[in-house]
Amino acid sequence: MALKSIAVFCGSSSGFDVRYSQAAKSLGKFFALHGIQLIYGGASVGLMGDIADACMEHGGKVIGVLPDFLRSKEIAHKGLTEIYITTTMHERKEKMNQLCDGVIALPGGFGTLDELFEMLTWGQLGLHQKPIGLYNIGGFFDPLIQLITDMEKAGFLKKVNADMLLVGDDLNSLVQKMENYIPPTTGKWIVRK
Ligand code: AMP
Repeated sequence: MALKSIAVFCGSSSGFDVRYSQAAKSLGKFFALHGIQLIYGGASVGLMGDIADACMEHGGKVIGVLPDFLRSKEIAHKGLTEIYITTTMHERKEKMNQLCDGVIALPGGFGTLDELFEMLTWGQLGLHQKPIGLYNIGGFFDPLIQLITDMEKAGFLKKVNADMLLVGDDLNSLVQKMENYIPPTTGKWIVRK
């Protein structure tokens, strides 16, 4: 399925390695050039600002979703195609989920992981069938990928659910994997002995 809107979760910080902001900028440009609408948290700071700026600069469409109380902390981006202001964090995630056909996570902190794992758990529960990509810049997510493998080996995660997370360090192949994604059909995520 061709993806028209992708939500991106990424750091509200830039990280110390310049490759992270380079990756955020190239993803923003990629969306603009491929006519994919960017849905993101609406901030102008960190990698969030980088991806939004790059997408807008190259003529793309960017929709921000920002809770009112974070307007000054994350400094709401003023040049977006559209911005939704929510009351709570939960409404923000719900709105981003409604607006997107799939999600991609870039390097980030707790907020990024929270958003990524909420989408993974909602997918596991069968609440959505959207592809979830992990853009693994410079091996940033290698320890997380290892932990997911360990969860599977230890009997806490089914392979079919571990496989929901589509990993790539190349944009074209990552988006290709997302477009070819087939969601798990098993209703149960609980591992039995
Ligand atoms: P971080 O990765 O910690 O820099 O955060 C990236 C983005 O995630 C920021 O826009 C945060 O506001 C957002 N965020 C943090 N916690 C949550 C949460 N519980 N639900 C939704 N978004 C969150």
